[in-house]
Amino acid sequence: MSEYTNPSAELRARVALEKYRFHKSHSLGQNFLLSEDMIGRLLDAAALKPTDNVLEIGPGAGVMTCLMARRAARVLALELDRGLEPVLTEVLQGRDNARVVFQDAMKADLKALTSEAFGGAPYRVVANLPYYITADILLKLTGAECPPESVTIMVQKEAAERIMSEPGDKQWCALAAELRWYGEAEVLTEVGPEAFDPPPHVTSCFIRLNRYQEPPVRPADPKLYRRLIRAAFAMRRKTLSNNLKAAFGVDQARVLSVLEAAGLDAKVRGEQLTLTELCRVCDALSENCG
Ligand code: SAM
Repeated sequence: MSEYTNPSAELRARVALEKYRFHKSHSLGQNFLLSEDMIGRLLDAAALKPTDNVLEIGPGAGVMTCLMARRAARVLALELDRGLEPVLTEVLQGRDNARVVFQDAMKADLKALTSEAFGGAPYRVVANLPYYITADILLKLTGAECPPESVTIMVQKEAAERIMSEPGDKQWCALAAELRWYGEAEVLTEVGPEAFDPPPHVTSCFIRLNRYQEPPVRPADPKLYRRLIRAAFAMRRKTLSNNLKAAFGVDQARVLSVLEAAGLDAKVRGEQLTLTELCRVCDALSENCG
């Protein structure tokens, strides 16, 4: 069959974007990936299996969505911009296992959407998403009641460096500590600006977080652990004790007994702590100040 009777997803997307005079929005981070070769390589790296259920955030013109629907069992895509509806309808024509829901992924009820789409079966996230929501969406996905088995996404190179950082590194931050609790991170490949339409001003990395079967630490109160991580990194040059006082409204004597119970020096700074030490502080905090 020629490309005229069976055009590629890339060609369909390019034609539909022209036909509907779609204007890409900078504020929605609309830097599209249209090249099937490039997307094919990214999906090879993501190692999707025919039995996988995939949640995509921000399908854009839908070329990646279409190629994922060819490789995986089902694809559910959340797109904020309704203006992409006619483009996505044309590009995804005939792909009955791909469904687009027009919603803000940050406000979406992921549990309801994924259980409806995948019948409660495990799912993975694969996406080239807008960079302005990278940290928030990662925290939402990995902290969800029914978290994905893995999260494979495009991020700015600087974000990848932060996510890959270790305790003691300059970039070690609350985001890295929270993600390290969810799973192991790896950079699959670096992607230059020229791969995108329009090209962004930054280099990107396609990264994967694989969820641990057994988390590295098990704090008694997981919600408190999340609050503690954010508090520990809130003001980087302050000691952990000052950050704890500010975040939890406890007095100096209490904080010192928490640190002592956790086996830590009174002058320690939050960003110096490993996950195990943070967990010890969390458990001491819930016992002393609960
Ligand atoms: N995945 C497509 C691709 O690779 O060509 C599009 C990528 S583009 C970087 C990001 C997409 O996310 C855009 O289509 C944009 O409209 C959409 N988007 C932006 N904010 C969103 C949000 N809060 N929820 C869902 N989609 C969003």
